[in-house]
Amino acid sequence: MKILLVEDEQAIADFVCSGLAARGLAVRHCDNGKLGLELALSGNFDMILLDIMLPGRDGLSVLKALRDADVPTPVILLTARNELGDRIAGLDMGADDYLGKPFFVEELFARIQALLRRLAGDRSNMVQVGPLKLDRIARQACLGDRSIDLTSREFSLLEYLMRSAGHLFTRSQILEHVWGYDFDPSTNVVDVCIKRIRGKLADLDSTGESAALIESVRSAGYRFRQ
Ligand code: CA
Repeated sequence: MKILLVEDEQAIADFVCSGLAARGLAVRHCDNGKLGLELALSGNFDMILLDIMLPGRDGLSVLKALRDADVPTPVILLTARNELGDRIAGLDMGADDYLGKPFFVEELFARIQALLRRLAGDRSNMVQVGPLKLDRIARQACLGDRSIDLTSREFSLLEYLMRSAGHLFTRSQILEHVWGYDFDPSTNVVDVCIKRIRGKLADLDSTGESAALIESVRSAGYRFRQ
């Protein structure tokens, strides 16, 4: 896995390079937009982490040139707090995700993995994390080679968590995404639905390990274990 990091702040570049290298990713760093674009155009990278304010050429212009040249390498924008407008413009221009500074390298790593999984899933329509596998077309879930009998809502919830495994979602995010409209935030439908999914997993796996794949994070939300 080869990552291109275009970032002019040395301190950020240092912690991203060492943090990602420690997780097995090869990072090539450059500190200006002009060289960044040249390297990105080579197509030799699996992902590009792109700062916006850069010497030489700014990140959005690098992104535009890249997409104009039909280079499809996924791009995560690294944006400062005051760059909301740029963030939106970047997504319109074909960035795949963004991460606001400051961030932890764990979060960046989780985003990279989630993005790669999402892209792979979009191609194959399969989502797999550990022993759990979802066929998004047939809406069929399997644990190992045994199929799990899920309702449509349970499937959607599991799919939402699994597509960004490792990422923590709040109850409101889950409600908004899976139920699709405004619920009273004090409702416990998410917890009830999670409990049912865990129960179904536990029925197929008496060790309890599969049910534990969905982690509850106290007073925060839920996360599917990577
Ligand atoms: Ca910068």
